[in-house]
Amino acid sequence: MAQIDLRDVCKTLSESSGIFGGGRRSTVAIRDLTLRVPDGQTMVVLGPSGCGKTTLLKLIAGLLQPDSGDVLFNDADMKAVSPGERRIGMVFQNYALYPNLVSRTNVRSYFLFRKKTAALDALARAKFERTSALMGVELAYLLDRKPTTLSGGEKQRVALGRCITRDAAVFLVDEPFANLDQTLREKYRVNLKRLLKQFKITTVYVTHDHHEALLLADILAVMDRGRIEQVGAPREIYDAPKNTFVAAFLNISPGAPPISLIDGHRMPNRETLAQMWVGVRPEDVEVSREPRADGLQGTIAESITLPPRDTTFLTISIGEREVHAQTACGGDHRTGDPVWLTFKRYHVFDKTSGVRLRSHDGGDDDLVAPDSDVHLG
Ligand code: ADP
Ligand code: MG
Repeated sequence: MAQIDLRDVCKTLSESSGIFGGGRRSTVAIRDLTLRVPDGQTMVVLGPSGCGKTTLLKLIAGLLQPDSGDVLFNDADMKAVSPGERRIGMVFQNYALYPNLVSRTNVRSYFLFRKKTAALDALARAKFERTSALMGVELAYLLDRKPTTLSGGEKQRVALGRCITRDAAVFLVDEPFANLDQTLREKYRVNLKRLLKQFKITTVYVTHDHHEALLLADILAVMDRGRIEQVGAPREIYDAPKNTFVAAFLNISPGAPPISLIDGHRMPNRETLAQMWVGVRPEDVEVSREPRADGLQGTIAESITLPPRDTTFLTISIGEREVHAQTACGGDHRTGDPVWLTFKRYHVFDKTSGVRLRSHDGGDDDLVAPDSDVHLG
């Protein structure tokens, strides 16, 4: 069991540019990154492709050394500890299996290369049986085959099996289900969740998939361009996003963009909102067909109703920008209809920095500062 800390970690990667390998181009993959993964918890790092997720895992694993800053396991500096000694189970996007060993042996490989004792043998058998039970026929039919005969998705399954079989203190997982088809992906996510709950292994799971992140995370960390933007429970981050990037990135329901940003000067109470973005979630927009003095006037640009719950998503034009609204009943909104919008809750962001300054909850204009607890709704 382990608590993982990254303290002020920086890492610049360089690659040669051009086919003639002239100059070298460097990318800052990780910038001043400080993050704590508590013992026994699953932290999901959610961020767009290229933001540095794989690099972050390699730094924790010891496959890369930071340029500056520290990686600690249980407060012990890992600088001098090799990847093999860190008791890590890894499933990376292209994690190599032993090519000349059948899948069964690959899954059990960690135990095969240790000194044999009766206790270790029993543990190995128990862990292997547990893995087999969890992964079922999807792993069973691969056990007698060698990696060279497996597809990408099948190799991933064997690598995942190996990872959950070995006796790891830390589990590092890099988008393991990206190559699997939808049905298997959903099944494995749920199985993995069950497994992580059962063994309470400290886990860092990186993905760009929101649904995967929301399902698996005890703690969510939203990452962008080498930085962790915000850490917290998924609901906390959704309810009190630190800035416009986080607000617009974390999407808990498909069907509409997660937040609409409106120029503050368009709002009815505009004098306090100049130089601000007003951000509103689709579920917090109330649409009235009658003029309202406290309402923001707009025009229906699009109405789309999605099964199976018959939720209607409206796109409303406000000047050059659009506001997305989610309503339970379809109504008979037609393109071009005028409507008046009021917001059950909304956030106010600084236009220059994108930082959230406060949130308004309900009709009473409660001000909620970014650092305080926000209990919306
Ligand atoms: P993610 O896993 O979030 O997609 P990565 O950690 O793989 O992101 O990459 C972060 C950044 O570092 C990207 O801009 C990527 O192009 C760059 N990068 C990744 N690996 C290397 C490498 N070996 N050499 C140079 N740059 C790299
Ligand atoms: Mg990656």
